[in-house]
Amino acid sequence: MSVLVLVEGLNGEIKKSSLEAASYGSQVAKELGTTATALAIGEVHEDALAKLGEQGISRVLYDNDPRLNNFVTEAYVKVIAKAAAQENSKVIIFSNTNIGAAVGSRLAVRLNGSLATNVTQLPKINGNSFTVTRGVFSGKAFADVELTSDVKIIAVKKNSIEITNQGGTATVEKFSADLTDADFAAAPKETVMQDTDGGVLLPEAEIVVSGGRGLKGPENWHLIEDLAKALGAATACSKPVADIGWRPHHEHVGQTGITVSPNLYIAVGISGAIQHLAGVNSSKVIVVINKDPEAPFFKAADYGIVGDALEVVPKLIEAAKAL
Ligand code: FAD
Repeated sequence: MSVLVLVEGLNGEIKKSSLEAASYGSQVAKELGTTATALAIGEVHEDALAKLGEQGISRVLYDNDPRLNNFVTEAYVKVIAKAAAQENSKVIIFSNTNIGAAVGSRLAVRLNGSLATNVTQLPKINGNSFTVTRGVFSGKAFADVELTSDVKIIAVKKNSIEITNQGGTATVEKFSADLTDADFAAAPKETVMQDTDGGVLLPEAEIVVSGGRGLKGPENWHLIEDLAKALGAATACSKPVADIGWRPHHEHVGQTGITVSPNLYIAVGISGAIQHLAGVNSSKVIVVINKDPEAPFFKAADYGIVGDALEVVPKLIEAAKAL
């Protein structure tokens, strides 16, 4: 039996969140005295797959059926289930991405397994029992959950696990789940990739610069964009900013938007309402810029600047450019 890790590709490379899942999976495999096998679905460069050896993956199963280049829930679940059966994998690991969230529960039903999402630490293993720690209540608390079923499915929270680099190369083997047209009956008609204009994709970003209503209007948004560019960051916004139409909705973070957990989240002119914090409070370092010293966001901040964003941000841009 091997531990199976689902890895996701982006522009042919492995997503950082999947490298975290691979690192997690190989450490679990080591603890269990077995090996970790990765499963890659869709278009990923084979040399990127072989490099998963650095994260302790020994073999990669690669299903490059072109119909899988865009995510199709039922088809992906079938591929993962077939790979798990072939490898006799009782432990299946992936990242808590949108794809992970979509396949996790279906896979658990299909394999009669238990599922833990948002997992932040390696499991404590005691025989057939795994105790995992997972974030709950929008990251406000942690719960220890015991998984005792035969098949255990763990979705690792992004940015919770260090990416290991132990050298080594994984062998890459072609894999096919013999999918039929019926498996693609619910495939989306068209998938449009977000245009990042050469910038960084928000869910994958290590640094996020985010703006709220304190920016006053879209005419000041260049401050957010210029700071993001200087730092190699993605841009984001609060919900009202997207609702008013200053920014597109795919940039809105929070309870009803995207959840991000970058290493650095810079909030400019955002009050820090609980619904906003729900999407950002697992960021490693939070910097808040707000002219109101009583703004709630300061309670969640690691660093704060009390001041007018229109004066503070240009200075930060200059400083970042000088780095
Ligand atoms: P405001 O609340 O208007 O705050 C603006 C801030 O900018 C203030 O703190 C002010 O002091 C500061 N400011 C003003 N001028 C300046 C200046 N010149 N320089 C510096 N600072 C300045 N919100 C989200 O963001 N994401 C969500 O997913 C989300 N989901 C929601 C779901 C529900 C069910 C509900 C009810 C609400 C949701 N909200 C969400 C809305 C949320 O409650 C807040 O209303 C929203 O986050 C506030 O956005 P804001 O901070 O940009 O604006």
